[in-house]
Amino acid sequence: MNDLLRLGLGIDLHRLAPGRPCVLGGIVIESPVGPVGHSDGDAVLHAACDAVLGAAGLDDLGTLFPDGDPANAGRASAAFCREVMARVRERALRVLSLDCVVETEVPKLAPHRAAMRQRLAELFELPADRVNVKGKTGEKLGAIGRSEALRATVVALLGARSG
Ligand code: MG
Repeated sequence: MNDLLRLGLGIDLHRLAPGRPCVLGGIVIESPVGPVGHSDGDAVLHAACDAVLGAAGLDDLGTLFPDGDPANAGRASAAFCREVMARVRERALRVLSLDCVVETEVPKLAPHRAAMRQRLAELFELPADRVNVKGKTGEKLGAIGRSEALRATVVALLGARSG
C-alpha cells in the first residue's frame, strides 16, 4: 500500500494591503503591499502545506493551526511547514515534488523564483530541481488583477519514505 503515489492540491488566497511585510514562499520580498493574514500571510507556504497534507490524508492547515488561536498570530509560516513535515515523516511518507503557481500583479515573482524554489526545497525536504514556482498575472481582471489579492495554487506528489 505504501508504494502508492499520492497527489495533493492546495489553494490559498490572501488580501493585499499597503505596509504589510511581504513573505512569499518563505522569503521576504521588497514590496509596497503584502498579504494580510493571522500568521505572516504566506499564501505560497499555506497552499503548499495544504497540498502536502491533502496528499498525506491529513487534516487541512486551518484545522491544524486555527486562525482563532493566538499562538498562531503573526507566526512565521515556515513553522507550519516544519510541523506538517513531522506529520508526513510519522506516516512514513516524503514529498517527491511540488509545483506552485502564484497569481499576483504586485509583487512581480520573476526576480524571486529561484530563492523561493530553494526555500521550499529546504522546508519540504526535497531537491530544488523537484520544486517549481511560476508567476502569473491577473490580466488586470478581478481582485488579483486590481492588486487587491494574490492567490497561490500548489500540487504536491508524495511517496513512501525509503530507509
Ligand atoms: Mg492562508
